[in-house]
Amino acid sequence: MSSERPRLAVIGAGPAGLAATLAAAARGVRVTLLDSAAQAGGQFYRQPAAELRAGRPQALHHQWRTWERLRDGLGSHVRAGVVRHLTGHHVWLVEGGERWGEGFTVHALLGPEQEEPVEVRADAVLLATGGYEKVLPFPGWTLPGVITAGGAQAMLKGALAVPGRTAVVAGTGPLLLPVATGLAAAGMEIAALVESADPRAFLRRTRALAAQPDKVAEGAGYAARLLRHRVRTFVRHTVAEAHGIERLEAVTVAALDATGRVRPGTERRIPCDTLAVGHGMLPHTDLAETLGCRLEGSNVHVDDEQRTDVPGVWAAGEATGIGGAALALAEGHIAGRSAAARLHGAEPDRREWAAAAKSRARLREFSAALDTVYAPPAHWAEQVTDDTVVCRCEEVDGGAIREAVERLGAGDLRTVKLLTRAGMGWCQGRVCGPAVAGLAGCAFTPSRRPFARPVPLGVLARQPTERGLS
Ligand SMILES: Cc1cc2nc3c(=O)[nH]c(=O)nc-3n(C[C@H](O)[C@H](O)[C@H](O)COP(=O)(O)OP(=O)(O)OC[C@H]3O[C@@H](n4cnc5c(N)ncnc54)[C@H](O)[C@@H]3O)c2cc1C
Repeated sequence: MSSERPRLAVIGAGPAGLAATLAAAARGVRVTLLDSAAQAGGQFYRQPAAELRAGRPQALHHQWRTWERLRDGLGSHVRAGVVRHLTGHHVWLVEGGERWGEGFTVHALLGPEQEEPVEVRADAVLLATGGYEKVLPFPGWTLPGVITAGGAQAMLKGALAVPGRTAVVAGTGPLLLPVATGLAAAGMEIAALVESADPRAFLRRTRALAAQPDKVAEGAGYAARLLRHRVRTFVRHTVAEAHGIERLEAVTVAALDATGRVRPGTERRIPCDTLAVGHGMLPHTDLAETLGCRLEGSNVHVDDEQRTDVPGVWAAGEATGIGGAALALAEGHIAGRSAAARLHGAEPDRREWAAAAKSRARLREFSAALDTVYAPPAHWAEQVTDDTVVCRCEEVDGGAIREAVERLGAGDLRTVKLLTRAGMGWCQGRVCGPAVAGLAGCAFTPSRRPFARPVPLGVLARQPTERGLS
């Protein structure tokens, strides 16, 4: 290794990245922690902007003690000069990893316009880039007032603001519960919570439930708060349409039959100015993919030490599978310890992280059980009319995608993209990919993108000259 203390670059300062940073820094590793956000915390511990001077930010969080421990630990390592915390750094590429010991270059963009290039050299890399929300289209979903469930949560935690007066929270997944109760506690009227799955099915997963009493208590807490705020809850229902002229005015909610189709005659209209909708989460895998890390389904594949199959690259948290903040913490801790040991040239002692490994196993089992229960309606694509925009960046509608499949014979995501431009815009298919795949009836495979973020051409043009490659 090139310096006395080996260097680890951790990308992502959410629960996984923070746990990894603390574990590695405590074991003699110099860590550079990079995150595009202005503050550490990631999605779960997202903090209000400093200028808002929040008096009691803990009111919007649970497990605040854990956050204090992470925040204070980071602070003391930064003061000791062991950790460099680079906020506002958007990592667009990590190079290296062909051979263990050769090192990596992390390329980031800094500044409000993300035009200032920054390079960080490291002996190893730990990817803790989290996940993002899956969004499925339905008629009216592009109206102002329709936002993602996580977006509403981020607005609440980060900007201490609510998106409107009256909300419907809809879609599927456990995230809908903190979103509905959080918005209600902040003063919004929650006209309905609409869940397409039937969470009662979860009660039959007794083994997974018994192993996670904290999660059961958390779920019961949400149920009690929904009752207190008199939130009407519809299970096995979906939002079939959002209505409005200039902006959202109401939604139509309908019951689902056993096959996941809307039951005709069950539609009801609910007035609202906000629809917070989410259909689950997907892992961020761009950086891992450009490094050549193997994926398992949509997740970065890791071994029991959280190592990817590329030497010198670890991954932890939701990039390796959606499972919540507690799992991200356990994985980050293991990854940080493993990276520290291996960077010092030692075989890690797995007994040291036995407790974290046990909790990782239980939490993975719990999230696998959740996955069997929460899912978008099987026939959601039938609700998408031909004039519903599916790819917002390129304004491609449902009719164009159907035509590409039915008339032009497209059988995979790439061909649909070539024929319609769906997925060719700013988001590069990150948002519309699952929807286009679902409508086209083909598998959703994350497409391999050279860069994790849009990069100004000027930055790219300067790269080879500066490094003498041209
Ligand atoms: C919008 C949203 C809201 C959520 N709200 C809740 C909630 O209220 N309650 C709950 O239980 N769970 C919530 N979740 C789920 C939550 O993300 C996880 O449970 C937990 O935060 C996962 O931890 P993590 O460390 O794996 O990832 P995250 O917490 O997502 O942290 C990943 C970090 O990586 C950074 N990052 C990613 N890519 C790059 C890059 N290329 N360059 C630089 N930085 C990068 C991000 O800025 C982020 O800070 C939410 C998820 C999302 C997407």
